[in-house]
Amino acid sequence: TPLLVVNDIVKSYPNTTGASRLAVDHVSFTLQRGKTLGILGESGSGKTTTARIIAGFLEPDGGNVWFDGRLWSGVQAKTNRSVEEHERRPFRHEMGIVYQDPLSSFDPRWTVQRILADALKASAIPRAEHNDRIVALLTLVRLTPDISRRFPLQLSGGQRQRIAIARAIAGNPKLIVCDEPVSALDVSVQTQVLELLTELQERLNISYLFISHDLGVIRQISDDVLVMQNGRVVEAGPTQQVFEAP
Ligand code: ADP
Ligand code: ADP
Repeated sequence: TPLLVVNDIVKSYPNTTGASRLAVDHVSFTLQRGKTLGILGESGSGKTTTARIIAGFLEPDGGNVWFDGRLWSGVQAKTNRSVEEHERRPFRHEMGIVYQDPLSSFDPRWTVQRILADALKASAIPRAEHNDRIVALLTLVRLTPDISRRFPLQLSGGQRQRIAIARAIAGNPKLIVCDEPVSALDVSVQTQVLELLTELQERLNISYLFISHDLGVIRQISDDVLVMQNGRVVEAGPTQQVFEAP
């Protein structure tokens, strides 16, 4: 079975004029285990809304998402019942999330050590193992252990994103939702972070849902690609095929 199955999700936001425009307009796709699915689209095309629904942070108006064989978000068609957060909680660590700006999801008062310890705690890793695990996580993202004493504001953009990735892999996730993870980085750092993601995928067999407005980045990282426009999927297929010259 595919790792992620997205069935016909629909979402509109209330708007001031009363005119209803769908931010996500009947989007469906599947993501296979160990693969990277890129979602490419201009700003406002519905990528982040799609990602938030998949992560279970936003309730869709219709449709549903299956993750690793279980209903993860949205409405159960047979019973018309929505999945609730407490039902996802025991499995939350199986889906990591990395945002464009890691600072938005780091508490500035927490050291790297505490950020990672918190993630380990959330995935029920015994406290006695935390120090060793944190060293291992930092090594996996190619940082040295001494960085664990620093605060987020004392890190470079690339280091911060490596810490965000370390936090995302702390719970041994099957999937990482990456929402514009390299868009705020210099091009040379972008390449390093993309190479790190690829390396981690090979070592840990993680799947990525990788969102970007940047065609070059999507092309580099994705096995398959969806192109979104105005909330709709306008093209989908293997990356080479989608970007092949006509
Ligand atoms: P993208 O990630 O591709 O930039 P979004 O999913 O953020 O697209 O936005 C899709 C559409 O939904 C846009 O028209 C955007 O203005 C609108 N939108 C997104 N978030 C909200 C919100 N919280 N309230 C109202 N409209 C929103
Ligand atoms: P709890 O309430 O059980 O501490 P949280 O919902 O705060 O759990 O966090 C669950 C997991 O998600 C933790 O591993 C935490 O590090 C991580 N986390 C929390 N907030 C974010 C975020 N904004 N982005 C990415 N990961 C987050």
